[in-house]
Order: sequence, then structure tokens, then C-alpha cells
Amino acid sequence: MLQDNFGRIHDYLRISLTDHCNFRCSYCMPQEEMEWMPQSKLMRKEEILTLAQTFIGLGVKKIRLTGGEPLVRKEFPELMQALSRYPVELTLTTNGVLIHKQLETLKKAGVRSVNVSLDTLNRKKFLQLTRRDQFEQVWENILLLLRENFRVKLNAVALHGLIEEEICDFVSLTEKLPLHVRFIEFMPFSGNHWQSKKVITAAQMLELVGKNFEMIKLEDKIHDTTKKYQVPGFAGTFAFITTMSENFCAGCNRIRLTADGKIKNCLFGKEELDLLGALRNGEDVEALIRLSLSRKHQALGGQFDPDYLKANPDAIQNRSMIKIGG
Ligand code: SAM
Ligand code: SF4
Repeated sequence: MLQDNFGRIHDYLRISLTDHCNFRCSYCMPQEEMEWMPQSKLMRKEEILTLAQTFIGLGVKKIRLTGGEPLVRKEFPELMQALSRYPVELTLTTNGVLIHKQLETLKKAGVRSVNVSLDTLNRKKFLQLTRRDQFEQVWENILLLLRENFRVKLNAVALHGLIEEEICDFVSLTEKLPLHVRFIEFMPFSGNHWQSKKVITAAQMLELVGKNFEMIKLEDKIHDTTKKYQVPGFAGTFAFITTMSENFCAGCNRIRLTADGKIKNCLFGKEELDLLGALRNGEDVEALIRLSLSRKHQALGGQFDPDYLKANPDAIQNRSMIKIGG
């Protein structure tokens, strides 16, 4: 069992398969020159499997594959197939553009739930945000997943000045489609030029939704990162990921493994321990995992004030989101 000093049990691992991506979202990827991880530093397929097994042995029950964009990793089908033999719930966070090519892989691996990122329903804005003209393909793939009975969570990063005019359109989508839309408050990472004034909080978004819809609060579970709502009679739900305005660190059960094999005990933590190096040198990986957990901070990686208006992005030491694995 992986317990930290605050009594939190960690049974959910996110593995980043690559720092590469076929999109260029500015809030995720540094606008300055991006330095890719050298191939030799990336976890090989067998190394990912060995580390996953170690985590499962320590009580991990759920693994999410992420990136960068996990579906650009060439060995994605083999990896999925191999991981599906382990006693663990498998899931995925993706930008959705390659889903149609990996649908059979996901079905065979027994994946039931997929998180797809989509920040706008407008083709032009999509191109501006991702620097790729792929809105239609992503949207078609979301519908494909729904037709194939996957549970689809749709992640939209809420950027102040952009989300306001679309938030009600996103909520309207949940009338007929059983989609679970989640508005994520904009978070600070290296190179993403975060400023508190670019954050729109859940409370502000809720006010906008409330002008157009009746809504009910749904029950949230202890480890949920979301605060969930539904318009009565609608097929889907909507929710807010309130990292900035009301963090949910008290219920955290998540650990991360970066594509270069570093364990991160928190999305915002600056401390990393090199599991891949230890594995390659025949050292005790389990001891390193426990050490990492013992160093986990109570909240926000110990790096910024829970009042996001006081957060100083220049003082935060971290990777860019694309290199962490969201
Ligand atoms: N490429 C995949 C995707 O876009 O879903 C997986 C990796 S991406 C880093 C994982 C999630 O992090 C996405 O939902 C993305 O929108 C979110 N994300 C990236 N940067 C963010 C930021 N600065 N604030 C909030 N969410 C962010
Ligand atoms: Fe790529 Fe996902 Fe980051 Fe966009 S959010 S640049 S799709 S990793």
C-alpha cells in the first residue's frame, strides 16, 4: 500500500508515454523552443511494463495513459494489450484526433472510459488554440466513442475571455449526448505564461451557466477532482476541476510517472526521483517509490498559496504540462 504522511492512500497512477504531441496547445506546451526528450532517456515498452507491475504490486488499481499525446507513441497497441493482462483498470487521456485508428486496441484492452480534450466547439478557435485544423476529426471521434458505448469525459481548459461565450454551448451538448464535460481551471506550469487574471473560477462559470439553465448538484466522491452538476432531464453532466479556486489535495490518490521514468508525487511538485535510472542500474525501485510518497507535500506540491491570486508563477519550479503528463 502506498500511503503518504497525511494518511492518503495512492492507488491511481498516470503514465506518460511520450512528450511528443500532434497538437500545439499554448497553455500546455512552452511557446519558446521545445526541447524533446532524447529517445535513449525515454522508457522503453518493457520498462514501462516492469514499472507498472511494480506499482500494481504496491496497490495501484487504476492506470491512466497520457502524454504528450499517448496515441502518437508507435507501440501504443502493444503496450495497451500487455497492460490489459494486469489486474488494473486502464484508461486514457487523449486529444482524440487518432482515436478512430486505435478504437479496436481500446476495445480489446477492455478500456471503458476515455477522457478527450476539447476546449472549443468552434473550428477557427480550435485551430488557434491547437495550431491544427482538426476540429471535425476530434468531434467525429467523440461521437464514435459514444456510439461504441465508451464513457466519454470531455476536458475543456477554461481560459478567461474565451470560455465565456461557449460555456452554455458545452452544457447544451449534454442535453442529448451522454457526455461528461469538465471545465478545468487554467493551471500554472513552466513556460505557459500563467497569470491569475487568465483564470476563470468555477464559481464564475457556474454563475454564467445558472443564467441559462436550471441545475442540480450531483454527489462527488472522496477522490474526485470534479464538482459535478446536471441540468435536470439532460443525458450528460458537467463539472468543474477547481484546482486553482478550491484545491482537492486532501483526497489525492494520484502519482505520476513521466515519459523519462521519473516519479512525481504531485502535479505541481518539483521533486522527482529517477525510477528508470534505478531500474536500469538494478537498484531498488520500490524503495524509491516509497521515498517519493514520504516526501509528498500536503497541498499543491508545497509550491504555491491555496489562494491562487497570491500564486507567483515565476517562483514555481516544475516541468511544462506536456512533459509531465496530465
Ligand atoms: N494530449 C492529451 C490531451 O490533450 O488530452 C493528454 C495530455 S494533456 C497534457 C492532459 C490534459 O491536461 C488535457 O486535458 C489538457 O487540456 C490539460 N492541460 C494542459 N495544460 C493545462 C493547463 N495549463 N491548465 C489546465 N489543464 C491543462
Ligand atoms: Fe498536446 Fe494535449 Fe498538450 Fe494539447 S494539451 S499540446 S493535445 S499534450
